[in-house]
Amino acid sequence: MKSPNQGNFAELVHPPIRELKAYQVQPAEGLIKLDAMESPYGFDRSLQQQWTDRLRAIDVHLYPDPHARRLKARLRRVFHIPDHLELTLGNGSDELLQLIQLAVGGAGRKIMAPQPSFVMYQIIAQYTRASFIGISLNEDFSLAEDQWLSTVESEQPDCVFFAYPNNPTGDFFNSSVIRKTAQLTKGLVVVDEAYYAYSKESMLHFVDQTENLIVVRTLSKSSLAGLRIGYMVSQPVLAAEFEKLRLPYNVGVLAQESAVFALDHWDRIDSGIQRVLSERKRVQSFLSSFDNLHVFPSQANFLTVRFLSQNAADVYNCLKNNGILVKNLDSSHPVLANCLRFTIGSADQNTAMVEAFSQCLGAASQ
Ligand code: PMP
Repeated sequence: MKSPNQGNFAELVHPPIRELKAYQVQPAEGLIKLDAMESPYGFDRSLQQQWTDRLRAIDVHLYPDPHARRLKARLRRVFHIPDHLELTLGNGSDELLQLIQLAVGGAGRKIMAPQPSFVMYQIIAQYTRASFIGISLNEDFSLAEDQWLSTVESEQPDCVFFAYPNNPTGDFFNSSVIRKTAQLTKGLVVVDEAYYAYSKESMLHFVDQTENLIVVRTLSKSSLAGLRIGYMVSQPVLAAEFEKLRLPYNVGVLAQESAVFALDHWDRIDSGIQRVLSERKRVQSFLSSFDNLHVFPSQANFLTVRFLSQNAADVYNCLKNNGILVKNLDSSHPVLANCLRFTIGSADQNTAMVEAFSQCLGAASQ
């Protein structure tokens, strides 16, 4: 039977959601994927056998441990998280960023972040109907600190997000600005350390003294993107509130067990991180050898560059035609005009990128 509303059900959806564009993931089939900050390394061959043996022993007919106790204990041990701070786990750190906004955002609330930054801060604010205050970075990707702090003081946001280091610009914000922000606002200050594995610098030790500061991290960038494990460190009073919003069993049993396994062999994961860091140096010195290109400093597993004479979109298309997928940042924000972002891959992937890039730049300058 035909419903009288046939075809109009989308109109039921709240207008701010209808206006949104879904998070875009580029099709990557057949391409070397250097667009999403994934690590090029998984478990090595000898670990793979042990890992699959562990997975075989899992009871998938039962729900996972709802509190992921073993995983939390491993995270505490490997990342030195003190016992008096609480951990909340998410299905990726995306889920935690959403959970925080469900708790303190929504209609009538203000969310603030530098722009450009990780797009989900703003997308979540839009669909939870909070107002979003974005403060544009300078052309060199620095934060206009006076303007930032005076806006924090006058607007009194309910929640502020700093990606530390920032995606897609690659560097840290000044940690003293983050601390001053936490003093100036009664809202929460979220320090998103998604790239901590590469940057090794953290605001975690300030969570003790600064009760409105929260640190969010992910295992995604260090070889485990497919598991979708994020964790958040906060004061227990906040974690108790977040716990009410966390969906039951949000981290599956295979992901929990695999992450426990990875953390028990963290030295092996870490050696992949070290390889990526040394590859970053190589790619950085290659890219820096071009006069008409500005390579921004990076503390993460990607490099963002601005083309000074070529058109970034032409280079992006040329790389893609040569089998290399990077991220075209041009037109996503005015300060990202003519910028591309390169995730650091394995030595072989980077060599292929370097060859394609040299060809493309030759072609683009003709
Ligand atoms: N924060 C930042 C700054 C990111 O760049 C990303 C992923 N690109 C995330 C959070 C989300 O990571 P995940 O959901 O995979 O943990």
